[in-house]
Amino acid sequence: MSVSNSFKDAWNYAKSLLIGLGVTGKNFVKPTITVVYPWQQVDNLSTFRGHVELIPKDDDLFTPRCVACGACADACPSHCLTVVAPPKTPKPKADAPAAALVEGRVIPKTEKAAAPEKSRAPVQFFLDYSLCSLCGQCERVCPAKSLRFSNNVYLTGSSREDFKIDLLARMKSQAAGQSAPSRPKSPATAPVSEKEKEPA
Ligand code: SF4
Ligand code: SF4
Repeated sequence: MSVSNSFKDAWNYAKSLLIGLGVTGKNFVKPTITVVYPWQQVDNLSTFRGHVELIPKDDDLFTPRCVACGACADACPSHCLTVVAPPKTPKPKADAPAAALVEGRVIPKTEKAAAPEKSRAPVQFFLDYSLCSLCGQCERVCPAKSLRFSNNVYLTGSSREDFKIDLLARMKSQAAGQSAPSRPKSPATAPVSEKEKEPA
């Protein structure tokens, strides 16, 4: 190898090194677009589509708008929603005696006895997020507008069980200002926990 070739190679190496350092230097001083998690958290979650969650009633944050119709569970292509409706109560007979004590007053015979108002809210509502494709079908078909995508960006887990979410308990915990629990007991057998019960 001649001396002139050696100088040429050395110059090419130095040149590529300088170009590489230039690219690195330019990016080094650019403003960052990522955050240093967990010390920093993102604040632009308005367009983030997390798992679905229940929307509470405007006047009662512990009760969902949901009327337990089951349309979302039927529409879900991944079968990841489980909705348990409250037990049905028998309808009062049409010719039932009108006279009755309601809130301490006797209803006149001509006035029909009003049936006690019964909540149609579900008693259980589970999501298996490990199956969800975030397609949005459940949100679209809900007649009560009771479902929306959450901005739960920090959901983590080490097994599929960690992504089974008790949506009723989550909604109630949010209403109470606590961090939301995620993992329910088995949907088929899980009793309504103390946390899920309506406050007195
Ligand atoms: S977003 Fe789609 S896959 Fe997920 S629960 Fe709703 S219907 Fe099912
Ligand atoms: S969330 Fe909506 S679609 Fe699903 S059971 Fe409740 S009311 Fe019906």
